[in-house]
Amino acid sequence: MHFDRHLWVFSGPFCKSKFEFQIMTEEAFDVMVVGSCMTDLVSQAPRLPKAGETIHGHKFFIGFGGKGANQCVQAARLGAKTAMVCKVGKDFFGDNYIQNFKDSGVHTDFVGQSSDAATGAASIIVNDAGENAIVIVAGANMLLGSEELQEALPAISHAKVLVCQLEISPQTSLQALRMAQGNKVKTIFNPAPAIPDLDPDFYRASDVFCCNESEAELLTGSSVANVEEAHRASQELLKRGCGSVIITLGPQGCVVLKAQELTLKHVPAPPVTAVDTTGAGDSFIGALAFYMAHYPTMPLEEMARRANQVAGVSVQAVGTQASFPFKKDLSAELF
Ligand code: ADP
Repeated sequence: MHFDRHLWVFSGPFCKSKFEFQIMTEEAFDVMVVGSCMTDLVSQAPRLPKAGETIHGHKFFIGFGGKGANQCVQAARLGAKTAMVCKVGKDFFGDNYIQNFKDSGVHTDFVGQSSDAATGAASIIVNDAGENAIVIVAGANMLLGSEELQEALPAISHAKVLVCQLEISPQTSLQALRMAQGNKVKTIFNPAPAIPDLDPDFYRASDVFCCNESEAELLTGSSVANVEEAHRASQELLKRGCGSVIITLGPQGCVVLKAQELTLKHVPAPPVTAVDTTGAGDSFIGALAFYMAHYPTMPLEEMARRANQVAGVSVQAVGTQASFPFKKDLSAELF
């Protein structure tokens, strides 16, 4: 019998959308990220300029950043089938970012381009002492909303893991997490940059709530400067309704607390010589998403141990996405 795939898609018995048909016939995404893209415009200069002053710098480069995109790219580099749901401007930086996703193997079906705002950008000046001054303009990131989530819903509902942060509108992040949870898709929420008075629904919509020390401090109102204090903070965050809590602690690795077990685990990081820790947290979360999608029955502390190893490689090279390792760069023991 002759079977016309496209005819069936639009006039067949269930009238599925083209995309829904594709995910019924192809493998679903391992990891979907609903989040931000930022172009980093980095100038290195002997010192930071004063107001009204023009100075000569000695180096300029463009980097790909934004927490959402960073986490998605790290998961893709480990071998996850990934898709990014985000918005960039209809401009050079937007085109360039879409190419970066394609080069990293990230699906771009849900990357929207808008003429109403520029691609998110971070203008960064770094002086010779390593201090910096940064202006971030979120731009098109703030235009990602319900309409785009509805378009991505067929894919989100079939994904294995969904990841969100707070560099887009918080309502959009919360809606995406709820969509995923409603479809039994595992969620990772990274409350970064942290905001005071976070809507309590974020906790309930998070299977894994993963933040760093300073975010944990802001959210709990208590100091998180060591493993002991991180344990206390993770208990406080867990009480607010999430499935598990991970607090990353830089060179000390992370602490993991699961609701079912209530046993606190400190998972140390490998001792390495760090040269640039920018994006270490994003490398950790991208890796965690990969492990949750590929090894759903693996204990969370083992996933955290492996994510520490991946992020530990990223801190040994300069740059954000530029420092994120590929599967081929890592020990076979991690897969
Ligand atoms: P963020 O980048 O959000 O500030 P952290 O500094 O807590 O996050 O780092 C995230 C993870 O990166 C850590 O849990 C650890 O696995 C790894 N990491 C960061 N800094 C180092 C370091 N100096 N040595 C080894 N691993 C590190």
